[in-house]
Amino acid sequence: MAGEPQADCLFCKIVAGTVPATVVRETETTFAFRDINPQAPTHVLVIPKVHYPDAASLAEAEPAVAADLLTEAGRIALDEKLTDPGYRIVFNTGVGAGQTVFHAHAHVLGGRGLEWPPG
Ligand code: 5GP
Ligand code: ZN
Repeated sequence: MAGEPQADCLFCKIVAGTVPATVVRETETTFAFRDINPQAPTHVLVIPKVHYPDAASLAEAEPAVAADLLTEAGRIALDEKLTDPGYRIVFNTGVGAGQTVFHAHAHVLGGRGLEWPPG
């Protein structure tokens, strides 16, 4: 069934607790934890508990959960005091864009200057 956990998915294992992570926030539908290889002073990953390969597929199948992901990203930005001067929410989608884990996730990055456009 769509959205079911995948045995070979790292982020499904993090949701299940079989791979450890530094938890930031958890809701009924989402899980947020610190990136193992942070690209900024604050670098949090927000993922849905359901498995979809990328954010757009999640939004097509379960738009309410996609909205939860953005809501959580905003709460994390507030909790981590990123809103002034600002922060970035990133959804890398596809290998060419740097996606390496094919379970939808938002990167929440802040605490340093963020150039635009990114590299
Ligand atoms: P992507 O490159 O797919 O957009 O993002 C995947 C992110 O997952 C990367 O930033 C990478 O550092 C992070 N990551 C990979 N493996 C682990 C892990 O085992 N634990 C945590 N906390 N983050 C991970
Ligand atoms: Zn997964």
